[in-house]
Amino acid sequence: MTGTRSCSVDGCDRDHYAHGLCMTHYQRQRRHGSPEIVHRRGRKPRAEQEARR
Ligand SMILES: [Zn+2]
Repeated sequence: MTGTRSCSVDGCDRDHYAHGLCMTHYQRQRRHGSPEIVHRRGRKPRAEQEARR
C-alpha cells in the first residue's frame, strides 16, 4: 500500500474523491448503489448515441 489515498475499488487506482472512491466510482455508487455496476455499452441503438448532446 502506498501513502496516497486512492479509490478502494479493486483494480482502480484513480485518485480518491469521496467515501473511499474515485469520482467515477463515487458517482456510480450514488446512481446505482454500487461502484461495481456498469452500464455496458454496445446494446444501445446507434440513434441514441447520435442523439446525445
Ligand atoms: Zn475507482
